[in-house]
Amino acid sequence: MAKEDYYDVLGVPRGASEDEIKKAYRKLARKYHPDVNKEPGAEERFKLINEAYSVLSDPEKRAQYDQFGHAAFDEMGQGGFGGFGFPGFDDLGDLFSEFFGGFSTRQTQRPERGADLRYELTIEFEEAAFGVETEITIPRTEICDHCGGSQAEPGTPIVTCAECNGTGRVTFTQATPFGHFTTTRTCTRCHGEGRTFDTPCSVCYGSGTQRKMSTVKVKVPAGINDGQRLRLAGKGEAGRRGGPPGDLFVVVRVKPHKVFRREGQDVLIEVPITFVQAALGDEIDVPTLDGDVKVRIPEGTQSGRVLRLRNKGIPYLRGAGRGDQLVHLKVVTPTKLTAKQKELLREFAKAGGENPPDENKGFFERVKDALR
Ligand SMILES: [Zn+2]
Ligand SMILES: [Zn+2]
Repeated sequence: MAKEDYYDVLGVPRGASEDEIKKAYRKLARKYHPDVNKEPGAEERFKLINEAYSVLSDPEKRAQYDQFGHAAFDEMGQGGFGGFGFPGFDDLGDLFSEFFGGFSTRQTQRPERGADLRYELTIEFEEAAFGVETEITIPRTEICDHCGGSQAEPGTPIVTCAECNGTGRVTFTQATPFGHFTTTRTCTRCHGEGRTFDTPCSVCYGSGTQRKMSTVKVKVPAGINDGQRLRLAGKGEAGRRGGPPGDLFVVVRVKPHKVFRREGQDVLIEVPITFVQAALGDEIDVPTLDGDVKVRIPEGTQSGRVLRLRNKGIPYLRGAGRGDQLVHLKVVTPTKLTAKQKELLREFAKAGGENPPDENKGFFERVKDALR
């Protein structure tokens, strides 16, 4: 099959000027660039376009080609090895300057995900146990509500970037002795956004974002514990240049409770009882997360005994069920007794066969009495 004529490849007449050739090449290179054009054969076409350009853009090679056609380069082998050099800095000068000009800043030109935010939310013990829905107000970067993130003043024209045809990327190819190299970079004219405008938004000054105080609803699930973190996807800072927003992390702090203490899913409470209640048994009201419940103290309870109230603890964060409430009974020894009470206690001791300490005797006598 005869090789396609280089002029036909670029779609220019035989007498085309250097400028026309360059324009035709750039247009076709964009169209067939393998990064852009995924159609079968596009890459082959792209190579051929580059090959044609590397010849027709070089006055000497073009003259040879005009005279001898493809035969002028046949002995140089396939793909122009050694034959097709650089298209030339002069021809691609502006492309190169764009490349080097854009290269150093290219990191900052891409769409950027918004930053994550962190917020500490302090809640009550009961709110942690049963969950709470609340609102928090945070300083946050948001999409500008005046321009909707377009960066242009509403009503003023936004035009497709002429440099990149709206793709946001610029591609150029250089033919070297080792083959064709293609580089793509972000368009410096539109900063990768594919469009340009003349009048920046009057509210955000063209940044597309605004710093504001934002109110965010936070749903704290039942059973959450101090120090646990909630992730609110997409509730962080707005992204830049069309990038996605970051996340908001809410770190939950649970206030200590006056009487309850948490241990895992269990709630602990210490309940003082008198030694009479401990000895004789009683029924008392014990506070729980669900309100007071009646608890029976068995006769002869020792100090430190723990009563377990099933399912009165903290709900499990995921799944069903709750922990227990553990009631630590603490027998309190009375410190201020009336003479009458003291008398009765001595009587009580004697009735139990005990030799009660005599109030008037000193410590050593009492020890001797006890050993007698
Ligand atoms: Zn704006
Ligand atoms: Zn552009």
